[in-house]
Parts: sequence; structure tokens; C-alpha cells
Amino acid sequence: SLSCAVRIVDLYHERTEMSQWITVLGATGSIGSSTLDVVRRHPARYRVYALTGFSRVAELVSAAIEFSPRFIVVPTQSAAETARQLLTQAQQDCQVLVGEEALARVASDDDVDMVMASIVGAAGLVPTLAAANSGKRVLLANKEALVMAGPLFMQAIRDNGAELLPIDSEHNAIFQSMPADYSGDFAQHGIEKILLTASGGPFRNKSKSDLADVTPAQAVAHPNWSMGAKISVDSATLMNKGLELIEACFLFNCHADQVQVVVHPQSVIHSMVQYNDGSVIAELGQPDMRTPIAYGMAWPERIDAGVKHLDLFDIARLDFVQPDHETFPCLNLAKAAFERGGIFPAVLNAVNEIAVEAFLGEQISFLAIPDLIENVMQACPEQQMTCLDDVLAADRWAREQATTYLPQYLLDR
Ligand code: NDP
Ligand code: MG
Repeated sequence: SLSCAVRIVDLYHERTEMSQWITVLGATGSIGSSTLDVVRRHPARYRVYALTGFSRVAELVSAAIEFSPRFIVVPTQSAAETARQLLTQAQQDCQVLVGEEALARVASDDDVDMVMASIVGAAGLVPTLAAANSGKRVLLANKEALVMAGPLFMQAIRDNGAELLPIDSEHNAIFQSMPADYSGDFAQHGIEKILLTASGGPFRNKSKSDLADVTPAQAVAHPNWSMGAKISVDSATLMNKGLELIEACFLFNCHADQVQVVVHPQSVIHSMVQYNDGSVIAELGQPDMRTPIAYGMAWPERIDAGVKHLDLFDIARLDFVQPDHETFPCLNLAKAAFERGGIFPAVLNAVNEIAVEAFLGEQISFLAIPDLIENVMQACPEQQMTCLDDVLAADRWAREQATTYLPQYLLDR
């Protein structure tokens, strides 16, 4: 009937007006595809503004065909040509943009409501910062961006009325366990410390000698989470926990000593906050990134994330142990970098990226990763970080240094 048709049209308008535009930076990755899965479950609530990729152009175009974004972003002209051909074949109308400026543009365009920052590594910094500077809701998975430029990034969020929702499962759990009106001051809320949980990675309980000749394939085989290669290696070295310690300090405005790393092999508790009355508040769940992603997208509401419910009887027990700093020195290297401040976290991150890449390329051993980082950190002069150029210069310097130290670690073959 006519009134029914009118009602449907009304509903349609209500929904499209209510729907929010999301840009997914790093849409072809592990976090990117989990984000698109949440979008897929809520087509009226979220519409895709832009998707970006790097090497996986065909996958990016497939996602564009499914989600009809206004833009996709690829790194080179030749990738753009490939993408345009595939889009034409599929009769999909979508503009293809190229390069880093385009990444920043689709993260900051006026129509965009939220940006999933899920590019891996330092490459994500500039577009993620652009989202913060233009007052978006920033869904932060790209922890390296925050580690590199913490104080600048947090300032950009505050100055531009942006919203920062941590997607890293631990930080999402901490966010959920913090008071809703958390001001950035532990004492004011009776907070004693953050308990940052760590699975321990694939090499938990191994000794240094066991680790001498582990392969990239062994390192990326994470027991609980399925993730991109770089973060999987970081989990194996415990550098991931080091980066997360720095991430927690910047996000929640605390000292490194106020964050205690707790190895919890089941990865059921995603992190906790301890209060001065003896309470400890935790968030528990499946090791499925769609939970923190959906939380960040819908906050302060909650939406279905497609994640199966936690069965505590199935889990039956939870274990907690101290981290092994002897075997996994990266955690303390990261803590020291945060405490030294200035450009040190950016330097730590850059050298780690070079080291992980060299390990994945079977150029250096697993144990060379912390050695290389420690060497460059020792050679690094103290320096303040006051603007983005300082961060980018530190990143470049550290990559150059790492490259000059690298030959001494090269494996014989
Ligand atoms: P993936 O390697 O699966 O995905 C990385 C994404 O970044 C891909 O879309 C990739 O494009 C893109 N990319 C890579 N290099 C560049 C570059 N130079 N310029 C532009 N884009 C680039 O990583 P994850 O999804 O696992 O991780 C993404 C981020 O989220 C990381 O910072 C990680 O630490 C963080 N994170 C991930 C978690 C997880 O469970 N996976 C958990 C918590 C945090 P392409 O694939 O087309 O080459
Ligand atoms: Mg994490």
C-alpha cells in the first residue's frame, strides 16, 4: 500500500541520515578485513567512504565491488591502472587515488565520520594524524603511529575535538575497564595500575638457545590470534608488548611503572585496571578483533560483532606468570625508550621495523632483532620531539643507522 511504501522510504532516509561514513586505511589487512566484516553486518549503520591498500590490489578491488566506496587508494600509478581495469570489468563506479597524500585526504575529507587506522607500521602515521587533525573518530589499531608520535598525536586529538578509540585488544579492554569520565589522572580516580596481559607468543617457555635458529614461519604461527606478519613477529619477540606498554602510557597518561605486564597464555582476559580499594576490573572475550573493532565503531553503544560467546566452562582455567625478560629483552628496551622520551620511541619503532623485515626475509636471526635495536638505541643522541618533522627525521635516522649495523648480523648462506 501507499502508506507502507511511504513508511519504507522514511525508514530509508532515517537510516541513511543516521549512517556514518567510514574510511578504512589498510583495508586489505587482517584488521581491515575484520573491520569490513563488522560493516557488512550493519549496512544501514555504516557506509564505506574509502578503502586503501598497498600490495594486494585485486583484494582491494574485490572489497570495493562489495562495499561501493567513493574512493580507493593505491600506492602507484601502475597499481591504479590495474585497479581501474578491474573496476571497469566489474562495472563498479569508484575513483582511484594514488599515493600518500591521497591517504591523508581520505582520512580527513569532510564527509568522513570515522577512520580505521589499520595500516601497519610507520607508513600509517601521516594519514592517522590527518584523521586526528580533522576531528574524526580515530579507531586506532596502528599502534606504531602512536608509539612514534605519542605526545603530538594526543595533542592533535585534544586540540581538534577528535575521538580516540583504542582497537588494540589490550587497550580496548583497559578503556572499557577505566572510569567512563577518566580524566587522565590515575590518582583522581583511585587507579593504581594497569595490568597489561600478554599471551607470551609462540615461544613462551623457550630459552635463548632454543630461539637461535627459529624460522619466520615458526615466529608468525601465533597460538591464539591470527594477525599480519609484522605484528606476529612482534608478538614472538615481545616487542609487541613493549610497543603496547608505550601505547598504554600515551593513551592513559601514565608512567611506565604504572603498567605491569602479566603473561596470560589463554588470552581470555584482554587486560585489567587495578584500583586502590582492591578492585580489579577486566574485560574478557574471545581472541577475535571484531569485538574491539565493533566496540570502537559503535561506542558508546554496542552492536553485534559476529563473535561467538565466551564459554567459561570450555576455558576452565586462567593462568598468570611473570614475563621472561632474559629471553625476551625487547620489552625492557621499549620501556627504556619510553622513559628516555623525546625521539627514542620513534627510533625504537623504526629499528624494529627494519629488524623484523630482515628477519622475515631470512637475512638475520630471531635473536639479532633485540641486538640490532639495542645498538641503534645506544648510538642515538637525546633529542626533543616537538613537531611531525622531528618524528619523521628520527624515523629516517634510525632506519639509516639500522641499515649500516645490519651487515654484521647477516646470516651465512
Ligand atoms: P596486515 O599486514 O594484515 O595489514 C597491513 C595493511 O597495511 C594492509 O592493508 C597493507 O596493504 C597496508 N600497508 C602495508 N604497508 C603499507 C604502506 N607502506 N603504505 C600503505 N599501506 C600499507 O597487518 P594487521 O592488520 O595485522 O595490522 C595492522 C595494524 O594493526 C598494525 O599496526 C598492528 O600492530 C595493529 N594491530 C593488529 C592486530 C591484529 O590482530 N592483526 C591486533 C592489534 C593491533 P596490502 O596488504 O595491500 O599490502
Ligand atoms: Mg594487542
